[in-house]
Amino acid sequence: MADCCNTKEQGSEVSDSEICPSCKSKGRKVKIITLKSMLIPTILDTLNASLTHYFCSTKDCKVVYYDTSKKTYITSEVKVSVYQKDNSSTVPVCYCFGWTKEKIKQYVEDGLASNPVEHIRDNINENRCGCEVNNPQGSCCLRNVTSYTKSLSLL
Ligand SMILES: [Zn+2]
Repeated sequence: MADCCNTKEQGSEVSDSEICPSCKSKGRKVKIITLKSMLIPTILDTLNASLTHYFCSTKDCKVVYYDTSKKTYITSEVKVSVYQKDNSSTVPVCYCFGWTKEKIKQYVEDGLASNPVEHIRDNINENRCGCEVNNPQGSCCLRNVTSYTKSLSLL
């Protein structure tokens, strides 16, 4: 009878632990291996590996990871530049196979390099990708590469 009023709590409600403590956006769950690979040594010292960790992809938010106890890890505590949070042209979009913004731009502008999406897809098919440990977001870069390539083509 009261079911209609409970839909929020049962379905799409974002639980508080999923929210970035800094920018209040919903983050994506990442595996602990990603933090072990990405955090600088002095910060890895403080990792609570038993908690669930999230990745914040908000551009203007300095927080890269946070856990369910609200502990945060910021960009300077991560070994690599984070694509979503870095404006420089040398930041990787594909971390595994070295496609920086600059290199993708070169492909789009003069077609000299091989097609980044095809090149990455070939390597994925050969099971060579290691996004969990190479990419700070801990998951496949292909969507970022595709949308970045598209954004350049539309300029
Ligand atoms: Zn954030």
